[in-house]
Amino acid sequence: MTRKGLLFVLSGPSGAGKGTVCKALIETKFPMKVSVSVTTRAPRTGEQEGVNYFFRSVEQFQEMIAADELLEWAKVYDNFYGTPRSFVDEQLENGNDVLLEIDIQGAMQVKQRFPDGVFIFLIPPSQAELESRILGRGSETQESFNKRTSAARQELQKMREYDYVVVNDVIDEACRRIRCIIEAEHLQVKRN
Ligand code: 5GP
Repeated sequence: MTRKGLLFVLSGPSGAGKGTVCKALIETKFPMKVSVSVTTRAPRTGEQEGVNYFFRSVEQFQEMIAADELLEWAKVYDNFYGTPRSFVDEQLENGNDVLLEIDIQGAMQVKQRFPDGVFIFLIPPSQAELESRILGRGSETQESFNKRTSAARQELQKMREYDYVVVNDVIDEACRRIRCIIEAEHLQVKRN
């Protein structure tokens, strides 16, 4: 019988740098299948369909929810985001590890369905750094900046629900810590 893969969930407040860390992990030799989410937000410059996201209308997204095609979904600020279920199920079944990069609401849903998943909380080194990262994205209006920074402050309280906390001070260091977590999880006696 093939050993099932492990599900890793990288989550944390807006501005923690989840997307950047995830991208950096993918660019190196990363022994994991990374799930591509569905979103109703418009593509940003340079983003590609099926690579960064599957871009869908709100109607299409609601149809996916109705057909139970999403493992989890959440409204993050003004847009919907969700994880296609079939990709995750197939990869785990085939013995591949899977990484989800999702917000905290979504991570809490995944925790219900996959209590054995490995939940990693990524945090910025400081509140000031978090605000400057949200601002530095360049796609924010003042209103969305305010929304994201105050939500991020609240979200930091959710840390206790997670298995690991990684401070994202320097990208390469954050990636190294995540690799250590992956390796440690594979060595756990309970998994063997
Ligand atoms: P962005 O619009 O900047 O790409 O992502 C906004 C937020 O949505 C980030 O916190 C990101 O982690 C989260 N996100 C991306 N994909 C998913 C998903 O499939 N499910 C959930 N719940 N959140 C997601």
